Amino acid sequence: RVAYERDKSLTRHHFEEGEHPIVRIEHLNKTFTDTPVLRDVNLDVWNGEIVVVLGPSGSGKSTMLRCINLLETPTAGHILIEDKEITGTKKTDVNMLRRDLGMVFQGFNLFPHMTALENVMVGQVKVLKKPKDEARAEAMKQLEAVGLADRADYKPPQLSGGQQQRVAIARAVAMHPKVILFDEPTSALDPELVRDVLNVMRDLALHSGMTMIVVTHEMGFARDVADRVVFMEGGVVVEQGLPEEVFDHPKTQRTKEFLGNIR
Ligand code: ADP
Ligand code: MG
Repeated sequence: RVAYERDKSLTRHHFEEGEHPIVRIEHLNKTFTDTPVLRDVNLDVWNGEIVVVLGPSGSGKSTMLRCINLLETPTAGHILIEDKEITGTKKTDVNMLRRDLGMVFQGFNLFPHMTALENVMVGQVKVLKKPKDEARAEAMKQLEAVGLADRADYKPPQLSGGQQQRVAIARAVAMHPKVILFDEPTSALDPELVRDVLNVMRDLALHSGMTMIVVTHEMGFARDVADRVVFMEGGVVVEQGLPEEVFDHPKTQRTKEFLGNIR
């Protein structure tokens, strides 16, 4: 077992003494055929914490997120959600797990033939078995929160990429997951649309109390919003800490080089 990471200087988030992390990654390894992609990753994420994961392309960021919701099967190691191990056991109900873990991808993965409202309703009705009225009210509330109440009846092809991504975020939030995983949610967007999506994520981070793990290259967002920044390279967590520490006083040469290149 790995000791809980209780170093309060690593995060802006306040956690209680004795509190257990909501997500715990222990000695996680993932190998594709013969290529190790994650190598002994250890990471605790606290309830309500905003963790931003940085790192060059190919460093294993997506694979780590995909292991958390079992879109990938870890080769070795353990992942626990609220102290319940989800790895190495056939008992994990993957559908239950994914209801607890929201995911927002680079591509928006909306149903193209459904309206924005229906897209935000469908998981609530089919997975959570909510009555339609309730699901519709919740969907409208979440579309309002992302600034798209007036687009509720539009279908994805009639929306901009940024609007589609905001619908995808509303859809994830409407399920009230324990944790939302974001995998480069703005990378596919034209620059002028990025800001609106980041503003929605910022709002969520600052006001919802939701636990968020965000893979992004948006350094301004990371600096302002992250409680903790985690830098990965070569399948390893190279460095982590407060955003101002990691950005202004990176401890490793690799972090320095990465931040230097991206600026
Ligand atoms: P990142 O998200 O940081 O760019 P990824 O997690 O997508 O990195 O990928 C890490 C490494 O794993 C890359 O070298 C990638 O080519 C490899 N990889 C990812 N998925 C697969 C797969 N399904 N099969 C084989 N290799 C993969
Ligand atoms: Mg990726």
